[in-house]
Amino acid sequence: MGTGCAGLTAALYTARANLNPLVLTGTMPGGLLTTTSIVENFPGFPEGIDGFELMTRMQKQAERFGARIQFGTLEAADLKSDPIKLTIDGDPLETKTFIIASGAGHRHLGLESETKLENKGVTFCATCDGALPMFRDQPLLVVGGGDSACEEALYLTRFGSKVYLVHRRDELRASKIMAERTLAHDTIEPIWNSVVTDILDVEKGKVTGARLKNIKTGKEQTLDCAGVFVAIGHIPNTQLFKGVLDLDENGYIVPTKGAATSVPGVFVAGDCSDHVYRQAVTAAGMGCAAAIDAERYLAAIQS
Ligand code: NAP
Repeated sequence: MGTGCAGLTAALYTARANLNPLVLTGTMPGGLLTTTSIVENFPGFPEGIDGFELMTRMQKQAERFGARIQFGTLEAADLKSDPIKLTIDGDPLETKTFIIASGAGHRHLGLESETKLENKGVTFCATCDGALPMFRDQPLLVVGGGDSACEEALYLTRFGSKVYLVHRRDELRASKIMAERTLAHDTIEPIWNSVVTDILDVEKGKVTGARLKNIKTGKEQTLDCAGVFVAIGHIPNTQLFKGVLDLDENGYIVPTKGAATSVPGVFVAGDCSDHVYRQAVTAAGMGCAAAIDAERYLAAIQS
C-alpha cells in the first residue's frame, strides 16, 4: 500500500523475489515527493532530480520486474483474518502479506495563499528545498515551534540572510537542546505569539512576504521574505489501522521487530511509521527491509 519511496522500493524487492506484488497507489501516486521540485539529496543523482521524475523511475524499475501498479484506494482492511482481507474502491482482495507504506501528509496552515504558492516559495521541507537558488541570501520564514520547525530554521541559516521563526505561543515545544540551539543562533529571529494570516504575493506567483498577527495584542505586521517553510507537524496516513495495529500517540505505526507489526503478515515502511528521519532515502531503505521481512515471513509459513 503506497507508491512513495517506501512502497515502490518494497515493490521492487518483492517483485525481484518473484512474489508478484500488487501495489496500490492511493490518492497520491508517487507520494509526497512528487510535490517537491528538485530532490538534491537522493544518492546517485549528483545534479539533483525532479521529484516526480524520481518517483516515475522508481515505478518503472519495480514494474520491470513484474510489480503490478493499481490506481486505487484502500477503504477497509481486516488484517486479522487469514488471508488478510482488503477492500479497494469497493472490490475485495485477499493477500497473505501486506506492507503498509501509506506515508504521511504535511499539516497545512489552511490558507488559500499557502496552496496557491506551494512550490513557488511555500514549502513543507527545508531539507528538500532550502538550497534552491530562490532562497539564497534572502530572508526566510519558518512556521512552527516543534523540533521540525527548529531543525528547518537551523538548516535554513546556511542559505537565508535571516530566518524568522513564527510560533503561535511564547515558548517552543521543541526539545530543550533544539530550542536552545535555535534561539542562540544569530541568524534566527523568533516571532512569538504570532500566526501567519496570509502569504504574499499570489498575483506575482511567488513569495514576497507574509502577513502576521500577534494573537495576544492583535497587532498585525508584514514581513518581507522569499520563502515560507511550514513545519507544523505531519499527519500519518494510518487512520484505517487505529485499534488494530499499535500506533503511538501521534498515530504513527509502531513496528514490533524490524518492519513487522503487531499483526503477523503485516509490515510497515516509510513515513507512516517514521517521525524522526522522514527522508526519501530512509523511506526507501525501510521499504527494502519490509520486503525482506515479508519474503522471510512467507517462506516461514510455507515451510
Ligand atoms: P510537533 O512537535 O507536533 O510540533 C508542531 C508545532 O507546530 C507545534 O509547536 C505547534 O504549536 C505548531 N502548530 C501545530 N499546528 C499549528 C497551526 N495550525 N498553526 C500554527 N502552528 C501550529 O511536530 P514536529 O515538530 O514535526 O515533531 C513531531 C515529532 O517528531 C516530535 O516528537 C519531535 O520531537 C520529532 N522530531 C524530532 C526531531 C529531532 O529530534 N531532531 C526533528 C523533527 C521531529 P504548539 O506548540 O502551540 O502546539
